[in-house]
Amino acid sequence: MSEIFQVDPVTRLPYGVSRYFSGLADTQDPYVDPVAAQYIPTSSEQTVLPYEDADPIGDGQYTVVPRLVHHYHDRALLLVNDRCATYCRYCFRRHFTGHGAGHVTSNELDAICRYLLKHPEVQEILLSGGDPLMLSDDEFFSIADRIRDVRQVMLRVCTRMPVVLPARVTAAFASRLGERRPAWMVIHSNHPKELTPEFGACVDRLLASGIAVACQTVLLRGINDDARVLEDLFRGLQRMGVRPYYLFQGDLASGTSHFRVDLGRGIEIMRTLRSRLSGLGLPTYAVDLPGGGGKVPVESSLLRVTETDYVLRDGHGREWTYPREKDT
Ligand code: SF4
Repeated sequence: MSEIFQVDPVTRLPYGVSRYFSGLADTQDPYVDPVAAQYIPTSSEQTVLPYEDADPIGDGQYTVVPRLVHHYHDRALLLVNDRCATYCRYCFRRHFTGHGAGHVTSNELDAICRYLLKHPEVQEILLSGGDPLMLSDDEFFSIADRIRDVRQVMLRVCTRMPVVLPARVTAAFASRLGERRPAWMVIHSNHPKELTPEFGACVDRLLASGIAVACQTVLLRGINDDARVLEDLFRGLQRMGVRPYYLFQGDLASGTSHFRVDLGRGIEIMRTLRSRLSGLGLPTYAVDLPGGGGKVPVESSLLRVTETDYVLRDGHGREWTYPREKDT
C-alpha cells in the first residue's frame, strides 16, 4: 500500500472514512480495491498539474452571498456545511470541503434569505457541502425551514450519506423530509459494491416517504471506467428505484489527475452503455467546463478535438477547452 497522509499539504483535503464504508473494501490497498481507492490518500495527490485548481468549476465566481452559489438560472447551491462522513480523494470542492468553515450561520442564512427574496427566478435550492446530512436532523430542518419560510422552493439534498453511512438516513429523517415535498435526494454512488442491502433499505425509507431519488456518478480511472462496471451500477440503481442522473467527467481539481479518464474514453463507454441500457437506466455524461463555463452534456457539446484539448460549446455558443489525458 502507498504512503498515507493525514492531511495533504498541497490539496488540503482531510482523510476520513466511516467504519461502514471502509467495511465494504476487501482490502485497504487503494491500487486494488475500488472502494478503498475512493478514500485512501496516495502520493499521486501531490502531483498538481498547471491547469488544475482547488475550485475547478468556479464556485467562487458565482458566490452571490457567502455560502450561496447562483450559477444556473433557476437554482442555487447552498453550502450547508464543510464536513463529510467520508472524504473522497477526487473531491472537486476541495477549496471548501473539510477546511473548518463548519455549518452555515444564522447571519449567513439571513443574507441568503434576503437574496432569495430578491431573486424569484430561483425555484430550487441544492443543499450540499460537504455533506448536509452531517448535521443533526433538527439542525438540517431548521436550515431548510428558514429558506422555505421566505420562499417555497423545491429542495434537492445532495449527499453521499446513503452510500457511506446509510443508517444516517433514518425513517424519521425521511418522513420529515417527505413533509417538505417537493424534495429530491441526489445520491453520489460510483461502484456496484456500494449497492448493499443497507443502501437498498435506505432508499426504501426515502421512497416510502415520497422522496424522489436520483444518483450522480463520477467517472474514475481504475474504479469504474469500464462499461460492465457502470452497467451493473446503473442497472442496480434502477432496480432499487434510483434514477441514474449524471455521469460526471472528473473535474480539474488539484491533485486528482490520477483519477481522470480521457473524455474520448468516456464517450466510448457511453456508446457501449447506450447499446445495453434503456433510457431510464442511462445517465447523461456531463462535464463542468473548466473555469466556470458550467455543466454541459459531453456528447452533444463536443465540437472538435485538437492535439491537446477537446473543444466544447456551452449553451450560449461560447467555446471552451478541456484537456486530453496524455497517457490513455
Ligand atoms: S462527499 Fe462530496 S463534498 Fe464530501 S468529499 Fe465526497 S465529493 Fe467532496
